[in-house]
Amino acid sequence: MLSERVNRITLSPTLRISARALAMKAQGIDVVDFSAGEPDFPTPEVVKRAAKAAIDANFTKYTANDGIPDLKAAICEKLERDNNVRFSPDEVIVSPGAKFSLFNVAQALYEPGDDVLIPAPYWVSYPDQVRLCGANPVFVPTREEDGFRLRASDLAAAITPNTKALILNYPCNPTGAWYSREELEEIADVCVREQIWVISDEIYEKLLYDGRRFTSIASLSDKIRKLTIVINGFSKAFSMTGWRLGYAAGPREVIAACSKVQSHSTSNATSFVQKAAVVALRETAMDVERMRQEFERRRNFVVYRLRALPQVSCASPPGAFYVMPNIGAYLDREFGGAPIRNTYGLAYYLLKEAHVALIPGEAFGTPEHLRISFATSMERLEEGMRRIGAALARLEEPRRLRPRVLNNTVTKVTGYAETRAVTGLASRNDLLAEAERHLPGDAYFEWNAAIAGIVVQLRTSSPHLADFYQENFYPASLEGDLEPHAVVYAVKDVPGREASAAISPETSTGFVFNTAFYGQVRSLALQLAGEAAARSSGALLAHCAALDVGGAGVLVWGGPGSGRTGVLAAALGLDGVRLVSSDVLLARLGAAEPVADLVERKLYLKAKWALKLREIGKLLERSKLENIVTDRDACHVDHPDDTCPLDRGAAACLEASKAGRVMLDPYWLGGATRHVRRTTPRLCVLLASDPVMPLARDLEPAEAARLLASGQLPGGTGKAFPFMNPHLAAFDSARSDLLRAQHERLLGATRTVMLNVAVGSTEALAKRLVELVR
Ligand code: PMP
Repeated sequence: MLSERVNRITLSPTLRISARALAMKAQGIDVVDFSAGEPDFPTPEVVKRAAKAAIDANFTKYTANDGIPDLKAAICEKLERDNNVRFSPDEVIVSPGAKFSLFNVAQALYEPGDDVLIPAPYWVSYPDQVRLCGANPVFVPTREEDGFRLRASDLAAAITPNTKALILNYPCNPTGAWYSREELEEIADVCVREQIWVISDEIYEKLLYDGRRFTSIASLSDKIRKLTIVINGFSKAFSMTGWRLGYAAGPREVIAACSKVQSHSTSNATSFVQKAAVVALRETAMDVERMRQEFERRRNFVVYRLRALPQVSCASPPGAFYVMPNIGAYLDREFGGAPIRNTYGLAYYLLKEAHVALIPGEAFGTPEHLRISFATSMERLEEGMRRIGAALARLEEPRRLRPRVLNNTVTKVTGYAETRAVTGLASRNDLLAEAERHLPGDAYFEWNAAIAGIVVQLRTSSPHLADFYQENFYPASLEGDLEPHAVVYAVKDVPGREASAAISPETSTGFVFNTAFYGQVRSLALQLAGEAAARSSGALLAHCAALDVGGAGVLVWGGPGSGRTGVLAAALGLDGVRLVSSDVLLARLGAAEPVADLVERKLYLKAKWALKLREIGKLLERSKLENIVTDRDACHVDHPDDTCPLDRGAAACLEASKAGRVMLDPYWLGGATRHVRRTTPRLCVLLASDPVMPLARDLEPAEAARLLASGQLPGGTGKAFPFMNPHLAAFDSARSDLLRAQHERLLGATRTVMLNVAVGSTEALAKRLVELVR
């Protein structure tokens, strides 16, 4: 429903945490709030008076879109007086907040495909504003030992032909980093040489400590001035956050473009606020200096107290009003058995247990730090520091070591491409030649799997596919000159090809191009094994899940959206029910009694299983994972109360992991009491959805086989998937008839029931399913 553009971004993490702190305060909890980037001082009196006077004089109408002439003149005067750089009024635009000035510039300059360099740690809105334009934020890491300053050499190394701009913020939120004139000259040289724009966010300019003096990069030379857009505002220096006023100054054509963007969005900044801002720029030097001195006193206090905490290190920030203590030593600890995995977890713990709100470093791109804003009174700082110290001391050494990050691989392609069936040797040979050509000698993996007694060899250039394949299947040993029964080629980086898959049943060869999504390779290997097994022994590789209830097997078929996972998970919660397989089963029909086996060593489960079966959630740390969302920025779920598990320091957000998979060892669910590899099929269940049908209805084997072959059960969603297998390649009618006959034999050897998910709850269905076989 929502645009792809907006799905690329998340609500600002600082605002999220501030909102949670506010909600706790509303419940009467005494929260010490170090999260906000907001001076606690009142706005200077002269400024307030000027705003009141402007209202009384009815200066309350639209103004010029880009700001009133008085204010633009005062801004030009300020830039020349304070920063030694000359701009004319048509090179200045006034906006409702510096954040919106930055937004205008982003809209005016960045295009899809552009890279915008952002030194990390960074202020959270920069990358998302870049993403909203369809451009890419590229983070340039800085080092703690450099005081988080960008080195000109690192900047130069990060520039590519796609680089459009650098966003430089000094003093920096969150690190306080600033640059001397010489350092800025080095950075400016690189930008001039490479002709990239510099967005110079100078909003903390007035808050520098220890006698440091501010230099604007725009003042260094005419060449760099032509490439620079200076951003500044009234929130920080004049304690005017709620007034919403900021400005941009830069080359005329860029400012004119910003003006166009603004004319179709906010229009002018509030009229009387602009009047008051003129006074702020001209008459508040004393107030600003008084606030700066107070901030310096608080900074000294907070840094002193943080350095006194065991295993915490803290640099003294040269500017702005944030400190970034390094609390990495606490990230292995736990509280009441719950691990603190990352800075999100630590921030959540401090909020819940110590009632101190602060921002996890991960939000800014630093995984070992917290951001504490000292823009609050000395009493609150004192209280907050006391609480933080006590809460950190309460954290316990972990009882067992846990991996801090999950073993998760993110693939570019996350879904199935349709598997095309190839007929004839010539087209198979073309694919073979193409695949062989693109298998590199230095990154080639080969492995033999035994699937239902069939040896399926994988030949791939993807370490991830090789890894998952080895984990998923049992190894087959091939001795001497023996050949595998079937081969799957999985080849990456083939130019000019989309993600695709093909199968040649006659030659038992499969091809996967340009996707590292493991499901594609797995389903192809299973299909090849199924074809070969059907030919050699008549066994059936069925696309169904299976449970075992006291030795009796229940086989369950259901199409997408049938609610099968929920019913199976609920059944597994019942006494004596064991999991055999989640989606594929080998049924042998030759014997007097049919037997059904799991053919895989590990189950490849959709992440939704972990939501429905809580044990699986706890096993994520031990499992290999694919496309699980572990990064807060990648979670686009609208969580109620805005609390994504990642915000609380959880390792993953399963709800957001729609494309996620877990490679699970089924024995971990509880050993032989929860899992068994072999069962005797007694009941086959087809899940249907039909409001007028009874809960359960017996089916004749022929009727049930016909339904499965048609690929559509009552109430199914749209598309037909023959034999309920969405990944099966379309094949000829003779093979289809054979497969239907195989299914009919299996169904004939058991009772077959259509179970109606449209009546009764998941729990009731699960109960019924188990009763039917008991
Ligand atoms: N830039 C930086 C680095 C900031 O920290 C902030 C406020 N947190 C802004 C810009 C935006 O300020 P405003 O929109 O209040 O003018």
